[in-house]
Amino acid sequence: MTIKFHMDCPPYRKGDVAGFSSEKEKWLVEDKEVAKYMKKPTKDKMVRNSKTKDKTYECECGREFDSPQGLGAHKRFCEKAGD
Ligand SMILES: [Zn+2]
Repeated sequence: MTIKFHMDCPPYRKGDVAGFSSEKEKWLVEDKEVAKYMKKPTKDKMVRNSKTKDKTYECECGREFDSPQGLGAHKRFCEKAGD
């Protein structure tokens, strides 16, 4: 994890950002109280919201469509669909 100093702590100064071993971080943040843990950047949401198109409509001939309307339009001309 990464910590940010909110007080001077030579050789680090207020505002410095640094990464340490978790043990040293804990010491600086909780015991010495000169630094704070940085918040994790959260960009997972954007990826999840971008594309979730998993439902498809498949014709007997094997072609796939992303809407029932598309499938219906295709089926009118498809040789293998219906009887
Ligand atoms: Zn078809």
